[in-house]
Amino acid sequence: MLLEIVKYPDPRLAKKCAEVAEVTPELRGLIENMVQTMYEKDGVGLAAPQIGHNIRLITVDDTGPKERKALRVLINPVIVDPEGEKESEESCLSVPSFSTKIKRKETLTLKAQDDKGQDVCFRAEGLLAVILQHEIDHLNGMTIVDHAGRLKRAMYDKKIAKWRKNQDQKS
Ligand code: ZN
Repeated sequence: MLLEIVKYPDPRLAKKCAEVAEVTPELRGLIENMVQTMYEKDGVGLAAPQIGHNIRLITVDDTGPKERKALRVLINPVIVDPEGEKESEESCLSVPSFSTKIKRKETLTLKAQDDKGQDVCFRAEGLLAVILQHEIDHLNGMTIVDHAGRLKRAMYDKKIAKWRKNQDQKS
């Protein structure tokens, strides 16, 4: 089932998410829908708050929706031993028509549980490391808009207010 993406400035995107206590059948169903939604919306990563669930769960596939070769479902993900710095240009399914340069760590170790509740731990670099940092930001109530400069953010807020006004006039 395709899920609706929560869009900025929805307050649900600004909340710190709660730890997942156990992998229930309901959670597995949610994960399945989340993965489908990520791929169909052409995403390389999705965080649970983006589909309206304020829990620490992300899905990631850095090979993209065409290849679908490296799906990772990560529950309660934690970054340890980040190293180096790089700048990446990022966009987000929850922040339409917006992109910004963000300073990220170059490599990191990710510890989490998988969709069976098993501990996983791996070293990530490149695009994967960036996606992980982006999605974990979501779990802490942060979007790419929060990384942008004040002026850029103000301009985007203005643009959104205008879209909303146009929509209201149509409906
Ligand atoms: Zn995002």
